[in-house]
Formats: sequence, C-alpha cells, structure tokens
Amino acid sequence: MQDPLKQSFLKDINDISSIQELVNLKAKYIGKKGIITEKIKNLGRLTPEERRSQGKILNELKGFIEETIKNKEEELKQKEISEILKKEFIDITLPGKDFYFGGSHPVNKTLLEIIDIFRELGFTVEEGPEVELDYYNFEALNIPKDHPARDMQDTFYVSEDVVLRTHTSPVQVRVMENKKPPLRFISPGKVYRCDSDVSHTPMFHQVEGLMVDEDVSFSHLKGVLVYFLRRLFGDIPVRFRPSFFPFTEPSTEIDIGCIICGGNGCRVCKGTGWLEVLGAGMVHPNVFKFAGYPEGRYTGFAFGMGVERLTMLKYGIDDIRLFFENDIRFLRQF
Ligand SMILES: [Zn+2]
Repeated sequence: MQDPLKQSFLKDINDISSIQELVNLKAKYIGKKGIITEKIKNLGRLTPEERRSQGKILNELKGFIEETIKNKEEELKQKEISEILKKEFIDITLPGKDFYFGGSHPVNKTLLEIIDIFRELGFTVEEGPEVELDYYNFEALNIPKDHPARDMQDTFYVSEDVVLRTHTSPVQVRVMENKKPPLRFISPGKVYRCDSDVSHTPMFHQVEGLMVDEDVSFSHLKGVLVYFLRRLFGDIPVRFRPSFFPFTEPSTEIDIGCIICGGNGCRVCKGTGWLEVLGAGMVHPNVFKFAGYPEGRYTGFAFGMGVERLTMLKYGIDDIRLFFENDIRFLRQF
C-alpha cells in the first residue's frame, strides 16, 4: 500500500524543475492537508496493532519524503546559481571601451593663443556688438555710402542702417569714442559675409587690433606684428606689401613664408612661396576725426586677421567648412 504512494511521489518529484513546483509538491504530500498527513491523522481509527505497523511505515515514508525534497531543493538552488553565473559571465579579455575627453575647438585654440600673445604685449581685450550700425561698420571707418570699398565686402543687411558686422573694425571706433589714448587693445569676435566656398564661410572669426598714442609709428606696427607672427608660427620669413584699406593710410598686407612648402611654391601658396596672413596700416586721420580726437595729435596702427585662415595654415587644413561641420572625427585630431 505504501509502495505505490512512494512510487507516485518519486514520479512527481522527477518532473519538477522549479522551487515553486517543489513547494506545491511538499504541500501535496506532507503539508497540513497532504496525503501522508491525512493518513497519519487517520491512524486512530485502526487497531493498536495495525496502528503500530502502519505508523512506523508512514513515519519512515514521511522522513524519506522530507529528505528527498530537501535534496531536490538544494539541487534546484545550485542549478539556479549556475544559470545566473552563465548569464552574467563577463569576458575580461574583451577590449575595453575608450573614453574621450572634450577639448577646445581648433579655431578657439588659435584664438586663445592670439589673445595670449597680445596680452603679453600689454594689449587688452575689447568687444562690440555683432549686429552693428552701418555707421560704425562703414561710415566712421571712412567708408561712406557711395564708397567703392563697400563692394569689397558682401554685407548682410538687417535694415538700411543695420548690418551684421563684416569685420571687427567697428570696435575700434566704439572704443575710441569712449576712451582717450594711449590705447592698446585687440577685439576678437565673429563677423559675417555673404560668401561660401573652401576658404570662405558666411560666419568667421577676426581679431582686430589697435594701438594709438602720440608718436606711434610704422616701426611699432612692424615690430609688434613680426613678433606676433613669429610667436604663432615659429621663426618664419615675414614681408610687407603695400595695399589699400579705406580706414588706414598707408596700408599694408603682410605675408609669411609658406609654412607648407617652406617657400618653394605649392598649391596652398599658389606657387608664390608666400601666404597672406594680416592686413594692417596706420590709422587714417579721418577715423580719428570720427572718433572726436583733436586733429594731428595722435597716431596709431590697426591690424586685422582671420582666425580660421590662421588655424588652417597652422594645422594644415585645406577646407574651412570642416570647422563648422562638427564632425567628431575631425575635432578629435586636435
Ligand atoms: Zn607653399
């Protein structure tokens, strides 16, 4: 009679694959209303002799079931742990992920370097608005409405009298209106021109500089700018060519020996061995007049440079548009 019960228990436990099923099985046989428990309760109805023999058999069976369930539980727990270990296995031989740190944009790096060099020379930094009055952008810089020089720059007009500044030169005028010489400052910032190709973008950065005092001469201009260029590019040849700007007289454009080919002539320098990097000149007397300075009292020099162009030359970049595409593969190289 007990053997079939034991067999059915063994068959049941064989089919079990989870702890929950095991709990149910335990209840089925030895729980409060389990088969074995009921049988033990009913022993009282038997004769004393039957009770003794049956009681012994049932107790042994109960002990056997408890023992087997306990072993099975242990087995299931082990299985569960090994499955977790298998699932959460970490292959420490796999290559790790790289972490990248952010950095300054190449244009910003050059800009900060330019500012540092001029700071060492005692220049301060001044700023002005990017949306500028036509008066400051042109007229006060000796470029009246009908002046042909207006055609030199493709201007974005906001209204008839308001433009997106085409250069940082209007800052000169704004500073001179409010301060008396001696003046020595640079004004870095964004400027805008309606132009776009491999060497032009509608927005780019310029650094304008101005030094005004009594007896400032062209020698000061030359000394400051040659020093600056050699700090930025190393020991390179520098030459001055006569040029024209409405707000300086005389005016000059400044070239450095081509840093790509070393002066032998290449595609970047168009075979000349020289690269134009700066525009400069002695401040035109009319500009001082617009600033309200007494006539003939002060002299000074002004200069301007394109930060993108200098950055391109410094790092050998051949397309200005790369600066603004924000391609992480490009930016990570700096
Ligand atoms: Zn060259």
